[in-house]
Amino acid sequence: VVCFIGRSNVGKSSLIKALFSLAPEVEVRVSKKPGHTKKMNFFRVGKYFTLVDMPGYGYRSPKDFVDMVEAYLKERTNLKRTFLLVDSVVGIQKTDNIAIEMCEEFALPYVMVLTKIDKSSKGHLLKQVLQIQKFVNTQTQGCFPQLFPVSAVTYSGIHLLRCFIANVTGNLD
Ligand code: GDP
Repeated sequence: VVCFIGRSNVGKSSLIKALFSLAPEVEVRVSKKPGHTKKMNFFRVGKYFTLVDMPGYGYRSPKDFVDMVEAYLKERTNLKRTFLLVDSVVGIQKTDNIAIEMCEEFALPYVMVLTKIDKSSKGHLLKQVLQIQKFVNTQTQGCFPQLFPVSAVTYSGIHLLRCFIANVTGNLD
């Protein structure tokens, strides 16, 4: 099991769609778990792994988000990796820190994915990437040192991210 979290509008649905559209041979089943889950989606990817799409969080719902996600993370048995999405155009925002602090507090192994890299100029993107890289190196314990910059529009970085997911879930193809 891997899970994807990020604030609303960070590009999470688009990324999940992009990840799966490159694997048309894989049957993706969307299931809804009863309970607190209207906003938590489970994608069963063939027999290989399950991707959990966590609810997006924003200015109005940090408390709901933390309650829901914490409840899930406490039950987690086979969660291999958490993918935390950050918008590369604006970098790490205050609301992103909610999720970062949660991953750190629960000592989850997590990976930062930078979304929408097609949107900025190369110069701006480089500046953001360096800033985020510096943050990861100096302010985090559980974050994987390599960033994954992606675009759901150009598919840049999607293949590498898929390989990484395959690797951490033990399905390297
Ligand atoms: P979510 O709320 O995190 O699921 O975000 P969405 O996937 O719905 O995306 C939010 C907005 O960002 C939408 O208008 C998308 O079209 C746009 N978006 C998402 N990913 C990308 C991307 O890689 N590049 C660009 N240019 N726009 C994107």
